[in-house]
Amino acid sequence: MKLPEIEILDEKDKRLRQISKEVTFPLDKEDKKKIHDMLTYLKMSQIEETREKYNLRAGMGLSYVQIGIPKRIFVIVDEVEENVFENYVLINPKIISNSEELIYVGEGEGCLSINREVEGIVPRYARITVEAFDMEGNAFTIRVREDLSIAFQHEIDHLNGILFIDKIDPKNPYKNAENMREI
Ligand code: ZN
Repeated sequence: MKLPEIEILDEKDKRLRQISKEVTFPLDKEDKKKIHDMLTYLKMSQIEETREKYNLRAGMGLSYVQIGIPKRIFVIVDEVEENVFENYVLINPKIISNSEELIYVGEGEGCLSINREVEGIVPRYARITVEAFDMEGNAFTIRVREDLSIAFQHEIDHLNGILFIDKIDPKNPYKNAENMREI
């Protein structure tokens, strides 16, 4: 596997704050290649050998705006068991329903655009249902829970110019933790 050439914007880059635009179909070849590159990059960041070889940080999701293109596209690579990966590509995603239950990542959320430790909890819905389009422009609905639900919400925030650190109160980073379930 060859590491795709992807430059991920850092949190200081104002382009991350853009509101990404709806995508029209069909996708061009360039977009399809970028999507594949992002999926490959994430997978390689999760495999220990390639992560170390290329000095990568492990990441589960990437949105298009993180590579500087404000289009409503994000990808997720989920390692369902050792070295078995499931890919998700969501275009023009919309959350159509959510659980009342809130959860958060106990060890803190991470982001490939944020290269520092950030303490605190980010409230997320435990379960969401999302409507989106695939790479061929077909509409589909997907229901996700737990860590995938968090990853989807994290990426959808990126499409709206929001970073997870925006959701942490620096004066009280563990605010309301008792009302949420840690995962
Ligand atoms: Zn992120």
